[in-house]
Amino acid sequence: MSSEKVSCLIIGSGPAGYTAAIYASRAGLNPVLYQGAQPGGQLTITTEVDNYPGYPDGITGPEMMINFEKQAKRFGTDVRYGLATSVDFTGYPHKVIIDNKHEITADAVIISTGASAKWLGLEGEERLNGRGVSACAVCDGFFFRGQDVVVVGAGDTAAEEASYLAKLCRKVYLLVRRDEMRASKIMQKRLETLPNIEILWNTETVKLNGEDGLESVLVKNNKTGEEQLLEATGFFVAIGHKPNTDIFKGYVQMDETGYIQTIKGTSLTNIKGVFACGDAQDNVYRQAITAAGTGCMAALDAERFLVEREVDVIIEEETA
Ligand code: NDP
Repeated sequence: MSSEKVSCLIIGSGPAGYTAAIYASRAGLNPVLYQGAQPGGQLTITTEVDNYPGYPDGITGPEMMINFEKQAKRFGTDVRYGLATSVDFTGYPHKVIIDNKHEITADAVIISTGASAKWLGLEGEERLNGRGVSACAVCDGFFFRGQDVVVVGAGDTAAEEASYLAKLCRKVYLLVRRDEMRASKIMQKRLETLPNIEILWNTETVKLNGEDGLESVLVKNNKTGEEQLLEATGFFVAIGHKPNTDIFKGYVQMDETGYIQTIKGTSLTNIKGVFACGDAQDNVYRQAITAAGTGCMAALDAERFLVEREVDVIIEEETA
C-alpha cells in the first residue's frame, strides 16, 4: 500500500466539498480532494438549477459542478479521482484509505460525502431520470407547472414535496403504500388543506410509461388488486435519503439513520480534526446553497483547528 501525508483532506465533490476546497486552498491549507463515486455529487443528475443565487438565467447541474471544480483548482486544490474506502480515526493524525490501496495521513479531514436519494428500483426509473422522474421537488418542480404529477412516499419529505408541488401543479397524486402516513401530524394536516392533492392509500407503483419523457404511471391498490392509470408527466420519489457515511461508522457520532452529528452552529464532529458538511450531516435543508454554506464553515473550522494545533506544537517544543 502506498502512503502520503497531507494537511487537509476533503472527501467528496458536491457543493460542500468544492466550497470547502475553495476556502481551504485560499487559506493555504493545500487541500487534497477525492471526488468519490459520483464526481460532482447529486447535482450532476439534475437538469436546470434555477435557485442557486448568482445565476439569473439558471445553469445545468453538471455545468455548475464543472464550475465549482474549476474554481477549486484555480486556487490550487489537488482534485483527484478516487473513493475513500475506509478510515481509522482512533489515533492522530487521521488515516483514510483510498480505493483500498493508498493510505493518506491527514491533519484535518473534511467529510462532504453527501447523501443519495433512495429509488424504487422500477424499470424505466433510471432511464426517465431528468425526463419526468426526480427525487427533488424544489429542484425540478418548476418544470411541471400546470401539469399532473405523482409523489411516492409517506414521510415528512413526501408530505413536503407534495405540498410544494401542489402550489405549482394542477394535480398531485400522493401514493402511500400503507393505510397511514409516517409524516408528522402537522404536515398531514397541511396536505388536507390543499384541494389539488389526492392521496391514494395502499397504493404502489407498477409501471412508468413513456419513452423520451414520462407519460403515465400505472398504480395498483395492494388491498384490492385494482389497477389505475394516472396521466402524469412528473414522478417524484420521496422515500428517503441515505447519507453516504458508512465508512465513518464506529468513529464519528451519527443519528440512527447515519447522518453525522455536528456541534450546533459548527462543522465540528466528536473527533478533533474531523469536520462534516453538506448532506452527510443535513437531513432537513439538503440544498446546494446550504451545502456550500456548510462547506465554507468546515474549511474555516479546519483552518482554525490547524492554526491552534501549530501553536500547541510550538509551545510543547519550547517547554520541552
Ligand atoms: P422517512 O424514512 O421518514 O419516510 C420514508 C417514507 O417512504 C415512509 O413513509 C415509507 O413508507 C416510504 N417508503 C419507503 N420505501 C418505499 C417504497 N419502496 N415504496 C413506497 N413507499 C416507500 O424519510 P423522509 O425522507 O420522509 O424523512 C427522513 C427524516 O427527515 C425524518 O426524520 C423526517 O422527519 C425528517 N424530515 C424533516 C423535515 C422537516 O422537519 N421539515 C422535512 C423532511 C424530512 P412506510 O411508512 O410504509 O415505511
